[in-house]
Amino acid sequence: TYTLGPKIESWDEDRKIWLDRNPDFPNYVNGKPRILLVTGSPPGPCDNPIGDHYLLKAVKNKIDYCRLHGIEIVYNMAHLDMELAGYWAKLPLIRKLMLAHPEVEWIWWMDSDALFTDMVFEIPYGKYDEYNMVIHGYPDLLYNQKSWIALNTGSFLFRNCQWSLDLLDVWAPMGPKGPIRDEAGKILTANLKGRPAFEADDQSALIYLLISQKDTWMNKVFVENSYYLHGYWAGLVDQYEELIEKYHPGLGDERWPFVTHFVGCKPCGSYGDYPVERCLKSMERAFNFADNQVIKLYGFRHRGLLSPKIKRIRNETVTPLEYVDQYDFRHSVLGEV
Ligand code: UDP
Ligand code: MN
Repeated sequence: TYTLGPKIESWDEDRKIWLDRNPDFPNYVNGKPRILLVTGSPPGPCDNPIGDHYLLKAVKNKIDYCRLHGIEIVYNMAHLDMELAGYWAKLPLIRKLMLAHPEVEWIWWMDSDALFTDMVFEIPYGKYDEYNMVIHGYPDLLYNQKSWIALNTGSFLFRNCQWSLDLLDVWAPMGPKGPIRDEAGKILTANLKGRPAFEADDQSALIYLLISQKDTWMNKVFVENSYYLHGYWAGLVDQYEELIEKYHPGLGDERWPFVTHFVGCKPCGSYGDYPVERCLKSMERAFNFADNQVIKLYGFRHRGLLSPKIKRIRNETVTPLEYVDQYDFRHSVLGEV
């Protein structure tokens, strides 16, 4: 069967020795794990040029979040392995980055079509000390319904450790493009509730693997739904005005969704499950909703959630540091924003 590379067996021991020898590259800094956010898009231009514009907005949004929270970011546009092109491309990439960055504790994969919509919320890492994978989903959909949307692979965390390399090894074999991926798709559709007939995708393959080998893996997988590590856009984007009235950033859940993921939209490609106009309008709203939280520090906000234009919200001052203390949430108490 297909392999991602030579079988690595001693990563935990080797990485520990490396960390001991390289004290300038600690995997924890000020008590917080070092995080690498990984995202990317296909090597070529979008079928639809407006798609490239929204990819740019989506990466601007991620750069802003990562800068504000001290997270490093990788944007990949290459196919590391032609057999795993498309949605499977994240697997060899995550593996490469784990091995090339032993100082990173968690790799956080995020799809290009997912936006941060809560710029204040931070992942509660302490909660995951005993876990190696954190993924948004619902245990009932996973174990009882065996639903193909029980988990979402658009935004998830992987600890840099042997366990994760082992999971990648057993996850990858359904991925190779062509007959293998096509045949695997039939198995997945036959076994997962609600799954349409199409080639094997990484999300269905992970769900199938975790259900069928529950005892092997699930004690280290945290299925998170107390906040939106992934949030399905269609239920969220029309509520932003109401949320602004009632709540504030920093909550991360249905009151102020952490991530809004445009599942099924595909503005970069030629096919999708929703009209492209509705997708683009919704992405514009999500982007501006988030961007308002960023440019507030500089004294601006968007004229509306659909407007790229901004307006001033405060007067200029000769004592600008007051505004820093008041509006940069890194210096104020979380949630007071
Ligand atoms: N992706 C990539 N290179 C590719 C194709 C996809 O990096 O050649 C990434 C991209 O970030 C995308 C994710 O893989 O958001 C999932 O791919 P998919 O085709 O499922 O797109 P989506 O469902 O996010 O529209
Ligand atoms: Mn996606």
